[in-house]
Amino acid sequence: MLLIPCPFCGARNETEFVYGGPVGPDRPGTDASDDAWRDYLFVVPNPTGPVQERWWHARGCGDWFTIWRNTVTHDIVERPK
Ligand SMILES: [Zn+2]
Repeated sequence: MLLIPCPFCGARNETEFVYGGPVGPDRPGTDASDDAWRDYLFVVPNPTGPVQERWWHARGCGDWFTIWRNTVTHDIVERPK
């Protein structure tokens, strides 16, 4: 079980949350190459170690927030402020 720290509600069970995905790269500009658009739209990064992620407290306060989570240990290494 993963305890996720909501900045409004405190630490709650992961079943109350919806994973919003990793914080990704910025959207390419209008002059970007086809390869840049392909990478942005279809290549999903799957890094090991600390990753910045978005979470939605869907069954709680409804807040969106960002945390740093280690994908190997599932430790939350930086909590929302
Ligand atoms: Zn909350």
